[in-house]
Amino acid sequence: MQRYGARWVLPMDGPPVRDATVVVVEGRVADIQPSLPRDVVAADVVTPGLVNAHAHLEYGPGFADLATGGRPFPEWLATMIARRHALTTAQWEGEARASIVALLATGTTCVADVITHGPGIGAAADAGLAGISYVESVGIDTARWPAERARLESVLDAAPATRSVGVSPHTPYTLGTRVLEELTGVARERGLRLHPHLGESPAEDEFVRQGTGPLAESSRRMGLEFELLDVGCGASATSYLDSLGCLGRDVHVAHGVHLDAADRALLRGRGTAVALCVRSNATLGAGAAPVAAYLAEGSPVAVGTDSLASVTSLDLLDELRALRDLALAQGVPREGLCERLLSLATLGGATAMGLADVGRLAPGSRADLAGFSVTDPAADPFAAVVESGRCVLTVVAGTVVAGAVLSRGGAP
Ligand SMILES: [Zn+2]
Repeated sequence: MQRYGARWVLPMDGPPVRDATVVVVEGRVADIQPSLPRDVVAADVVTPGLVNAHAHLEYGPGFADLATGGRPFPEWLATMIARRHALTTAQWEGEARASIVALLATGTTCVADVITHGPGIGAAADAGLAGISYVESVGIDTARWPAERARLESVLDAAPATRSVGVSPHTPYTLGTRVLEELTGVARERGLRLHPHLGESPAEDEFVRQGTGPLAESSRRMGLEFELLDVGCGASATSYLDSLGCLGRDVHVAHGVHLDAADRALLRGRGTAVALCVRSNATLGAGAAPVAAYLAEGSPVAVGTDSLASVTSLDLLDELRALRDLALAQGVPREGLCERLLSLATLGGATAMGLADVGRLAPGSRADLAGFSVTDPAADPFAAVVESGRCVLTVVAGTVVAGAVLSRGGAP
């Protein structure tokens, strides 16, 4: 049995508990007791381990120059693709492990990780992270599909039993129409979840509607024969994915920046959550996600960092602060906003991945915890974490994996 105390425990699916102790038995939360004995180490605030709903851990610190390079999105993407073959398998694994250290140091214990090269799956399994590794297909037309299908299925088959996998069809503009349908079919046959990028840039909308623009040019340069080239489908990228069966409760999308009210209603109707990545969008000049609209409309929303190739940290609190600023700028009332944001980074991410036992602290849930010190422990604990939280403790399945800069002794 382990016990973790705090001035405030935020279970997230119930009210905050002051001067409380989370009791852990065999990696699961057994109880949240409304008392803080003197022999229990205590943080200012304890929350469920944070849930990062969109990351690419294999693009780790070695890609940090791309997050500060000021490249517009199509050029950034071309640079990423050009560098894909530059690293060895061991180096990709090293990148993923370095990203995981950064996650754990900042209280994230669950991640939707897009796997491009493979080693990230084992790295996440070794760290005991919750969440799903989504194996990505990118740059595939019908001619390339048979070989890609064999590769994808072998990566899925080789995944360790301790890590859940899914399928990530990269985007509507880097995969053929038939290929998108086939990828969706592979996931559904295996009962796996899907996680594509959607609505990241205006160029994507042009490509899907008309088959033209910079993304059409780059696919042509790569010799990819997509069905949409030069003709488009005359509809939005969201409608296009829906027409291919690529939305649903088993899907969550990344970014969701360039989605109009009809697109957002379609996602909501299908039960498809959106992982917002507002810092990455700002870096790549991709635009500002309609955060206020998502919140007002009651869309299922989660929060992701994207990778170190487009953000300067994997700290979800940095992401929440950027999201807060964007929400306030779009007119979202300040009242209750921090509680909502913290909910997106816990329950919201769990819902996006269909996980019932993470993102909350309740009897039976995984004992994944984040402890924070804050500048004003007497303040509203949600605001205190978002405004000034500094991770001092990370617990994965009951075991301390980072931090532990804690005081011993109960409430004064
Ligand atoms: Zn991404």
